[in-house]
Amino acid sequence: MSVLQTLQERSNTTCELCKATEDLKQYTLPPSLNESVDNSLLVCKTCLDQIEGNSEMDSNHWRCLNDSMWNEHIAVQIMVWRMLQRLRHEGWPKDLLDMMYLDDEALTLARATGEHEDEANKIIHRDVNGVILEVGDSVVLIKDLKVKGSSMVAKQGTAVRNIRLDTENAEYIEGKVDGQQIVIITKYVKKT
Ligand SMILES: [Zn+2]
Repeated sequence: MSVLQTLQERSNTTCELCKATEDLKQYTLPPSLNESVDNSLLVCKTCLDQIEGNSEMDSNHWRCLNDSMWNEHIAVQIMVWRMLQRLRHEGWPKDLLDMMYLDDEALTLARATGEHEDEANKIIHRDVNGVILEVGDSVVLIKDLKVKGSSMVAKQGTAVRNIRLDTENAEYIEGKVDGQQIVIITKYVKKT
């Protein structure tokens, strides 16, 4: 049986990403050179055009990944992972990525095309002047800040050393003020 035939059989001749039944093609995960059942999947033209960048990404179409992420075949899981990475900025794909589990080998292949390295999606923390903040930096507060969940006010001009960054949100950093670890909004600090 050819690779294509095997894929048709395992998928019941449907797109393994969105379940469409027409215009199906075999797609071999780049950068693989040898086509095999293990690194290929069956996809429809709508999916393929967006995967290959021939038509614009329609994030609604990719809601189908909600279901296909649970596909038992690793090649499908890897493709789902790559598409979720590309759509990360939409928000919802991040939740699905958190739920996905790929073993080390699969993850290495999934990352081979660099989808996860999209600069636009990278979380970068910047101070009030747009200066990039990094872990361990020192900042100074540029206004009085009420500390959430306490009566404490962190005064303007307070120096905060050795900050940490919120890895999920570019607007937040953490640091110690008066011995207390607090969350600080990046637009109210200046790097020193
Ligand atoms: Zn499809």
